[in-house]
Amino acid sequence: VTQMGLTRSQNMARIRGRDTSPELIIRRGLWDAGLRYRLHVKTAGGRPDVVVTRVRLAIFVDGCFWHGCPEHYVRPRSRNDFWDAKLRENVHRDRRQTLKLEEQGWRVLRIWEHEVREQPERTLKRILECALRPRLRKAPAWRVVKVEALDAIGSLERRYLEDLRFAGRLREQICVRVTRKLGRVRRVASRHLL
Ligand SMILES: [Zn+2]
Repeated sequence: VTQMGLTRSQNMARIRGRDTSPELIIRRGLWDAGLRYRLHVKTAGGRPDVVVTRVRLAIFVDGCFWHGCPEHYVRPRSRNDFWDAKLRENVHRDRRQTLKLEEQGWRVLRIWEHEVREQPERTLKRILECALRPRLRKAPAWRVVKVEALDAIGSLERRYLEDLRFAGRLREQICVRVTRKLGRVRRVASRHLL
């Protein structure tokens, strides 16, 4: 965690804290299904939120704001450069951890916070299937890395997305900025750049 001043650190600790409820939902579901797990195990690829050691599955529950969720990331109105840098740093760390773990024979499952909140049962089912299946399909994992305002009031924006596993795979979207809390970003246009 980057040093960002006490108040913000405390706030981040609360938001990214170890016992956020999406993570608890997942832990409870794994437990109920008889899968034993460990928490925040130190690995060469960071500390995954939940680790099912027996099947070498590392699960991260990624917050929609901090990890650049394509559906929910909302650029704060001020300090654009700061937030772009922060986002890029977080996404790069996620990529480093994911690739490192996969290189070392782990299967890595990155779950969005909103998936757990919106569809807890379906998400749990997916996690359990992954835990029981020897191979995990590496699905595209898009992350917002940069956002530019396209008009003076900043209601229309251009978002740049990168795939978590393939840094060279880029996507650009024109979107209507969400203002509603936990609102879903509305895409007007989308294209692959590479
Ligand atoms: Zn989201």
